[in-house]
Amino acid sequence: MMMTALKQAQLRISWLDRTVITAIVLLSSVFPVELFSNTPPAPKGLDGQYSGKQGQVLAVKVQGEEQATEVKGTFLSRTIPFFREFRPGEPAGYIGLLGIDMQDDPGTYELAVEVKQGEQAKQLSFNILVAKEKFTVEHLKLPKEKVDLDEKAVARWKAEQEEVKQALEENSRLKLWHSNFVEPVNGKRTGIFGSVRIMNGKPRNPHNGEDIGAPLGADVAATNDGIVRITVDHIFSGKGVFVDHGLGFYSMYFHLSEILVKDGDLVTAGQIIGKVGATGRATGPHLHWGVKLNGARVNPYSLLDLPFKNGVTPPTTATIPAPETAPGPQAVPIKE
Ligand SMILES: [Zn+2]
Repeated sequence: MMMTALKQAQLRISWLDRTVITAIVLLSSVFPVELFSNTPPAPKGLDGQYSGKQGQVLAVKVQGEEQATEVKGTFLSRTIPFFREFRPGEPAGYIGLLGIDMQDDPGTYELAVEVKQGEQAKQLSFNILVAKEKFTVEHLKLPKEKVDLDEKAVARWKAEQEEVKQALEENSRLKLWHSNFVEPVNGKRTGIFGSVRIMNGKPRNPHNGEDIGAPLGADVAATNDGIVRITVDHIFSGKGVFVDHGLGFYSMYFHLSEILVKDGDLVTAGQIIGKVGATGRATGPHLHWGVKLNGARVNPYSLLDLPFKNGVTPPTTATIPAPETAPGPQAVPIKE
C-alpha cells in the first residue's frame, strides 16, 4: 500500500514537474522579458559569445529592452552606442556596432553593456573573442623624399593630423545612416587592409584602409547617409572627404582628383562625392577607403557583410591581388 502511494506521489510530482516546465517554456517564448525580468538576456553569437577577426565589425544585439532610455557598451576603453532596431520577424532590441581595431591583440575581452531605464541601470556582459587576421606584408619602393620627410613636411603632416582630429571630435550623436551600404567605387579590391608595410626596407605603420583600383575620374560614392565633416587636401591622403554617419562611425575617401561636396553637406548613400585620383602619396589612381568605428580602424568591407544590407550584393570575400599599377602607398606614418 505504502509503496503504491509513494509511487503514485512520485508519478504525480513528475507529471507536475513536466507540466510546470512545459508551461515555463511556453510562457518564456511568449513573454521572454516579463517572466525573467531579473535575468539578463543571454548573449547571442557563437557558443554564447561573439567572435571576430582583427578589423571586423560585429553587430551585437541586446534583446527585449523595450523600455531602455540608453544602451551603451564599453569594449577595450572604447564606447559603443547601441541603437534601436526593428526587424520583421525578430524580437525588438538594441544593436551596437563593435569594431575590432586592426591592431587589437588577439584574446577574449569583455563588452560591458549598460542598459538604462530611467533612474535604473542594468549591467550586461558579453565575451568577445578577437582572432588574429592574416595580413599581407607589402614591400614598397618609393622615392626617398616621399618616405623620409623633411622638417617642413613633418610639421605639415602633424598640423593636418590635428586638423582632422579636431574636425572629427564633433561627431553626430544621431544615427544618420540607414540599412543600405554601398561600395564607393566599382573597382578592384586589393585586399591590403591592415597590411604590414615595409617601405624602402623600413617597417612602417600598417595600411589602415582598403585600396580599390579604378580609373582616374571614376565616380566615388558615399557608402551611406551622413554629413561631410571635413574635406581636405593633405600631404598623404591628397584630396579627401570624411563623412560622419553618426554614433562614432566615419568613412573616409582619399586620393581623389576632385571633391564634389563641401564641409557640412548632408549626403545620402550612393551620392557621388568625388572622383578617383592619385593625389597625395599615391603611385597611381585608386580610392583609399577607410572606416573608423568608435575609434577602431576596421575593414570597410566588413560593413557590407553586416546583416543590414538591403538590396546591396555583398562583394566576394576573396581578395584580388594588387595590380601592378594601382594601389598607392600612402598614409603610412599616419596613425589615425
Ligand atoms: Zn590606401
